[in-house]
Amino acid sequence: MQIGSNKIEELKSYLATPQRIVILAHTNPDGDAVGSSLAWAEILEKQGHSVTCIVPNRFPYYLEFMPGCQNIVIHKGDKEGRAEAAVRSADIIFCLDFHTMTRLDGLGDVIDHNQHAKRILIDHHLDPTEDFDLMISYPVASSTCYLVALLVEQLYGAEHISRTMAENLFVGMMTDTGNFAFSSVTPDVFRMVAVLAEKGISIPDIHNHVYNSFTEGRARLFGYVINRKMKIFHNGSVAHMSLTADELRRFWFQQGDSEGFVNYPLTIKKMKISAMFTEHTDFIRVSLRSRADIDVNIFAQRYFHGGGHKNAAGGKSFVSMEETLKHFERCIKEYAAEGRL
Ligand code: 5GP
Ligand code: MN
Repeated sequence: MQIGSNKIEELKSYLATPQRIVILAHTNPDGDAVGSSLAWAEILEKQGHSVTCIVPNRFPYYLEFMPGCQNIVIHKGDKEGRAEAAVRSADIIFCLDFHTMTRLDGLGDVIDHNQHAKRILIDHHLDPTEDFDLMISYPVASSTCYLVALLVEQLYGAEHISRTMAENLFVGMMTDTGNFAFSSVTPDVFRMVAVLAEKGISIPDIHNHVYNSFTEGRARLFGYVINRKMKIFHNGSVAHMSLTADELRRFWFQQGDSEGFVNYPLTIKKMKISAMFTEHTDFIRVSLRSRADIDVNIFAQRYFHGGGHKNAAGGKSFVSMEETLKHFERCIKEYAAEGRL
C-alpha cells in the first residue's frame, strides 16, 4: 500500500517550515493510538517541529513501557492547562486513530478554541467526518501505526525510523491486527514488520509488556465476567457481557483492564457477535466484535451512537445497564430480521 502522492505533497507543504504541532488521539487510548502518536511525534521533532501529544484520558498501565509515553499530556485532570495551552497556540493539529470529534469527549471543545490551526487526519476508521483540511484516511489499513510507518517512509525514507519509533509502531500494528490475524493483514503489513524488526526491536519483550503484564485483579475479573456474566442467545450466535461500576470496584479495576474481554466469546464456534457493556460515570461503554461478514460498524452507528470498523466497533448507552442489555437484545432481533445476521 502507498499513501497517495497528492496527500504526501500537501503534507510536505504544511511541514516545510518548523511548526507548532499538537497530536491528538482518541479517548481510552489503545496501543495503536499511543504508538502512532509517539512515533509521529518523534519523527516530527527530529525534523525541527515542536510537538505536544495529547490524549483525552489515561492510557492503560501496561502501555507505560512505550518509549516517550511519559511526555504525553493527559487532558482529564490536567490542572496546569498544558493541553489547552498547546492546542491554543498550535499551527497544525494532527488527529490520529479516530474519525469523528465525538471520540475526543471534552477535548473536542478545546479544539474549537483554535480555528486557525490546520487539522490533519491520519486514520483507518470507516466513515470519517469532514472536519479536516487534509484527510489521510485509509479504512483498508490495518492500523494507524502502519499508516504512520508508510508516511515516514514516503516523506523521509525508512532509514529515519529509529528503534524507539519501531517499538511504538509495532505495538499498534500488533494490537490492532489481533497479533497479525485479522483480515486487514496484507503482505505489505509483514514487509513493514520486517522493516521494524530490522531496527533491532525485541518482539517477545513487546509482546510480554502488552499481553502478559496485567494485574491479578484483571485475571480474576476476566474469570468472573466469562463465568458469571456472559449470556449467550440467538441460537448460540450472539453473546453479551456486562460489568457495573460496583463489580469493577470489587476487582480493583484499572483503566484498560477489560480491554480484549469482548473478543473471548468469539472463540466459541458459531458465535457471530460479541458485546461488552462497561459502566462509566456518565454512560455505559459499548464494545462490539463480529465474525467475517457480520457488520458491527453499522450496528454501532444505528443503535449505540458509535461506529468503528466492520468487525470491531463501539459506542455509548445512556440508559441503565438493565435497559441497555434489553435494548441490545431487541436490536439483535431487528438486525437478524433484516437478514444482517
Ligand atoms: P473498542 O471496543 O476496542 O473500544 O473499540 C472498537 C472500535 O470501535 C475502535 O476502532 C474504536 O475506534 C471504535 N469505537 C469505540 N467506541 C466508539 C465510540 O464511542 N464512537 C465511535 N464512533 N467509535 C467507537
Ligand atoms: Mn487503530
